[in-house]
Amino acid sequence: MQEKINPNLRHPIEATPESGEAVEIQKGVYWIRLPVPFELNHINVWLLEDNDGYTLVDTGISSNKTCAAWERIFKDVIKEKSINRIIVTHFHPDHFGLAHWLCERTNADYFASKETIERVNFLLDMEDKNHLETRMSFYQQHEIVDIEFFEDFLKGSLYAAVVSGKPVNTNVVNDDDSLKIGEYEWQVIMTYGHAPGHINLYCKELNMLISGDQVLPTITSNVSVHADQPEENPLHDYLASFLKLKFLPADTLVLPSHGKVFEGLHQRIKEIVEHHNEKLEEVFLICEQAHSASELMPKLFRRKLEGINSVLGFGETLAHLNYLCHQKRLQRNLQEGKYIYQH
Ligand SMILES: [Zn+2]
Repeated sequence: MQEKINPNLRHPIEATPESGEAVEIQKGVYWIRLPVPFELNHINVWLLEDNDGYTLVDTGISSNKTCAAWERIFKDVIKEKSINRIIVTHFHPDHFGLAHWLCERTNADYFASKETIERVNFLLDMEDKNHLETRMSFYQQHEIVDIEFFEDFLKGSLYAAVVSGKPVNTNVVNDDDSLKIGEYEWQVIMTYGHAPGHINLYCKELNMLISGDQVLPTITSNVSVHADQPEENPLHDYLASFLKLKFLPADTLVLPSHGKVFEGLHQRIKEIVEHHNEKLEEVFLICEQAHSASELMPKLFRRKLEGINSVLGFGETLAHLNYLCHQKRLQRNLQEGKYIYQH
């Protein structure tokens, strides 16, 4: 299947790696693709030459297929060298999933933001039943129908099934840290909204940005309100985070987690901001008449969402509603135990 391209961006790297393969995009910087079992299809991870070994950015989801892809990469790319350090951009399973497995296999040190470490702990240590009931009642207040699936999601069992566990040797990465990887300095730019404490890495000398899921060339990243933080305004955090990336040069080579490596960072940020502004206006207009978030979701996505997509779509619908409520353009009222939105 032909990979989707954004015609407004430039793709200076001609080759795109197949799943389980690597393409060297610049001396010592490897673009690796790994399989992902959702609609997303793949994730890009980055292997950076680091003295006598490598630093790896992101790891792939925990599955037999991804482990098999890694075995090919160890044989064909890493060979007699080793991975000394693993940096995870954020807690989502396609990024964090094999961190434990790879750390065990290579003895690498694990690096992540404080928020990533906390979120992983939260999702893997969920045993508090009262906590679960409170969060379930959040979904009930929003009239969610497919409640069993949401319960599995809240229990963390869906997450635990696609991650390999917690790495032991943990190092915290902070905003604006400078990481020396091989002969280059990579600056940490922390963004929020898609995931808390999402690490982007910028190398001025190479003029390259490893953007994780903050900036993607053809799809927009999920921005969700979660049941344990129901009053948060992640869409505000996500859009505000772009202010930190707008200062990078227009010709920065962007290395995204999904899709092709591209040039056109400023153009892509503009498109993403416009997309969310359009969605916000759409939500505002629909809410001229009272709607629950569940009633609003199919109108916003224009298709029936199922499984994990319904959880993500619902979270994103709420992110737009919370944004408008924080702006005081919409009001949320509790009527007979159910939330409705109107202006
Ligand atoms: Zn993500």
